[in-house]
Amino acid sequence: MSHPDVIVVGGGIGGLGAAYSLTRQGLGVRLLERAPAFGEVGAGIQLAPNCTRILDDYGLLDEAKSLGVVPDAMVMRDAVDGAELTRLDLRDLERRYGYPYLVIHRSDLHGLLLRACERAGVELITDARVDAYENTGGGARVTLASGATHEAGLVIAADGLHSAARKLLADDEPVSSAYVAYRGTVPAGSPRVSRVDLGEVAVYVGPGCHFVHYGLRGGKLLNQVAVFESPKALAGREDWGTPDELDAAFARTCDFVRDGLPFMWRDKWWRMFDRDPITTWVDDRIALLGDCAHPPLQYIAQGAIMAVEDGWVLGEHVARNRAADGSVDWSAALAAYQAVRPEHCRRVLTTSRTWGELWHLDGLAREQRNALLRARDTYDYAFTDWLYGPTALTPEQEPDMFTPIPLSSATGPGRR
Ligand code: FAD
Repeated sequence: MSHPDVIVVGGGIGGLGAAYSLTRQGLGVRLLERAPAFGEVGAGIQLAPNCTRILDDYGLLDEAKSLGVVPDAMVMRDAVDGAELTRLDLRDLERRYGYPYLVIHRSDLHGLLLRACERAGVELITDARVDAYENTGGGARVTLASGATHEAGLVIAADGLHSAARKLLADDEPVSSAYVAYRGTVPAGSPRVSRVDLGEVAVYVGPGCHFVHYGLRGGKLLNQVAVFESPKALAGREDWGTPDELDAAFARTCDFVRDGLPFMWRDKWWRMFDRDPITTWVDDRIALLGDCAHPPLQYIAQGAIMAVEDGWVLGEHVARNRAADGSVDWSAALAAYQAVRPEHCRRVLTTSRTWGELWHLDGLAREQRNALLRARDTYDYAFTDWLYGPTALTPEQEPDMFTPIPLSSATGPGRR
């Protein structure tokens, strides 16, 4: 087997996005996935304009829109009394950033990226679990569980939360939040769906819990997510997050939220882990990308988006560091990637943790939060500009957090 230019380890949204981005730059890419088939588990995923802008650049946005839903509003309500706290007008948001807020089934987004990789000629290999990584001087090599080896000029590790590659750069472990997520979908014909506005992404925030719903597949499905702090996890038990904890966790919430619980899948749940941010993602010719580099708590819905952005940024720096003969100055491209992405993702990771604490407040703190959120102007974008504006390619382009950016820099097709 001849050597590709790049090996990507992991065929999740991050790995596929990176493989597509680099193939688009004319590189030969081989993607190694440990599972016997490509796929995604779970239901919906929210894609803010900083992701739909990149999908558009890839020529994939129209297909993504046809598979998902472009909602009209994102509404935050108090889970205890159901009262509205604040909202985003997603049509105005689309005008501000130039690209829509989109919600889509995970398997539809994954399938879209997989088909794009197939069309672009990415070499897609399943049943290929990578156990070891090493730099070779001028390239890198991976060794599979089978003993087979693969070499390339660059290896990108996109192997998720429990990454083996991350050990090259950090001696850390996933951090448990003691929160667990239940997911479920409800078909459009159900009486449950007649009680919701499918044009809304709704988030009900409550003491130690929250509940999210939005429409999927052109409104054919309602996606629901129920998240709560597990008492068993807090007690240090191994068997935490089990279904018996679900109903108890939402006992104080309003009828609408509690009525949604019977629709959650009860045979599978997602314990929520993140990791502390790390500032170095590159070890010579091995680079981390996606959850492997920066797994967040999901509260600001940026995990998969950051992974897609990583791949796009790397592709743009390849374009800038490519000689006429097609060779890539990997040291320069990786230095540029390393200079901009870890700091952005560090901000997202730490903000996600704080945002989760804010959502789950109780007592007086909950009332104070509610008062502040009610006072927020719907059209104040100070909290979204640093996230939803064009993805920065250099540290200088990274906006200050919570400071509105001029409209002209919010909209463009990307920072180039
Ligand atoms: P993964 O999806 O974990 O993919 C890693 C891949 O690598 C897998 O296919 C795995 O099989 C493969 N792999 C692992 N080890 C090896 C190996 N040794 N050899 C070969 N292959 C290997 N993000 C958003 O942007 N918006 C949202 O609305 C959102 N909502 C979320 C809701 C919940 C409840 C949760 C839990 C997460 C949410 N996220 C969201 C986060 C998002 O799902 C993740 O950040 C994203 O899927 C990470 O993608 P990835 O490709 O980096 O990693």
